[in-house]
Amino acid sequence: MDTLGYINTGNLAVVSPLQTHGTVIPSAPEELGPRVLELTSVLQTTLDYEQQIQLFGKEIQRYLSVDGLSYDLPGSDTSILYGQEASHRATYDLKLEKQSLGSIRAYREMPFADKELHSLENLLCALVYPLRNSLTYKQAVEMASRDPLTGVGNRTVMASALAREVGLAQRQQLPLSILVVDIDHFKRFNDNHGHAFGDDVLIAVAQSIASTVRRSDLLFRFGGEEFVVLASHTGNEGAMLLAERVRENIAALGTIRGRRVDVSVSVGVAELNASDDSDSLFERADRALYRAKNGGRNRCVLG
Ligand code: GH3
Ligand code: MG
Ligand code: MG
Repeated sequence: MDTLGYINTGNLAVVSPLQTHGTVIPSAPEELGPRVLELTSVLQTTLDYEQQIQLFGKEIQRYLSVDGLSYDLPGSDTSILYGQEASHRATYDLKLEKQSLGSIRAYREMPFADKELHSLENLLCALVYPLRNSLTYKQAVEMASRDPLTGVGNRTVMASALAREVGLAQRQQLPLSILVVDIDHFKRFNDNHGHAFGDDVLIAVAQSIASTVRRSDLLFRFGGEEFVVLASHTGNEGAMLLAERVRENIAALGTIRGRRVDVSVSVGVAELNASDDSDSLFERADRALYRAKNGGRNRCVLG
């Protein structure tokens, strides 16, 4: 039977659907004690939530034996596992001031006694604040690296990703290519249908590119209506094929927000060579883009 158990400590509520017990377990703040404070300070040594879960799993072994812990992040299907799963489990939804911090599950071959669950719940109180800080930090880092309109990487992360990928490709002597994609006559969408519709076109183009490239390729919005794709392990032949697919899929969009439109892009392509750095690679692709524009647009040119 699943029953909700609550621990209330001021504005902290750890909601716990206990799968093995049907009891509601209250806990007063004074019961939290020094071990919770000690554990909190250990968990505060990092802002990496994965490390925090690992640390939590390790540290609680001093008070309670568990075979494993798993953590599910809110709004994500990825799960972190410390130790291993086992047949008995106790699951807790972690909440702080109505903010969901995901759920944590403890595993053990031996059943958990009520006293042990109580102890685990107290220990979870030590996790909640440090975990909230880490998730807030993670969200801030993600927001700082994403273009808010299209959700793809922004120009700032593009610069660091380009430098990193160029360094990697040169060290490992693997091919790397770059595509610079620019929407043709984009200004007309704004002028003819308004800025909001221009934004919709940008979103549709970003989605189209994202669904065309491989998962390992990196996509960024570089400027107003310009996108960059970094294709690792890809030489100029593969990059030109990719660029053509990107161009064709965008040309085939047909309708955006119920309005029939002709969208096309020009693409400049370049492959990293031995004497390149990230600037020279980018510039070669940008010059190729310029030639694609001058050649009549809606085409891909290799630089
Ligand atoms: P070309 O084929 O030569 O690339 O012409 P273009 O019209 O696409 O290029 P141009 O550089 O002349 O115009 C780009 C326009 O993109 C100008 C700017 O107002 C618009 N723009 C930039 N950022 C945004 C945005 O976030 N939303 C919208 N709606 N428009 C934007
Ligand atoms: Mg442009
Ligand atoms: Mg343009």
